Amino acid sequence: MAEDCLFCRIAGGETNTEFLMETDKLVVFEDINPLAPVHLLLVPKQHIRSVNDLTEQDREILADLIFAARDMAPKMGVDSTGYRLFFNVEKGGGQEIFHLHMHMIGGWES
Ligand code: AMP
Ligand code: ZN
Repeated sequence: MAEDCLFCRIAGGETNTEFLMETDKLVVFEDINPLAPVHLLLVPKQHIRSVNDLTEQDREILADLIFAARDMAPKMGVDSTGYRLFFNVEKGGGQEIFHLHMHMIGGWES
């Protein structure tokens, strides 16, 4: 765990954040400041700073994040209406929390 990393603390169960999904590798929870009716964050338990810091060893966790989104989509009712998955990368890309996470947003009227 990286010191003073909010998402390490959340993923480690050290806060009262409610998980919508938890596996041994990742957690999923609602964004505190949603940009859409559905806004989830999919967060590896492993501390990786950003997409720039991914290594070959991280292939599986990346796949896990996308499969977790696929599994959450029907649970959140957005599988047929559609959703966006994205990573903000470093400050210029809008990243504010430097622990890798994938955003999942959707739920707009279609
Ligand atoms: P990013 O800008 O890609 O680093 O995204 C960070 C996201 O984390 C933002 O959308 C914030 O609203 C969200 N966020 C910050 N603190 C919390 C928290 N304690 N619980 C849930 N989401 C948070
Ligand atoms: Zn971290």
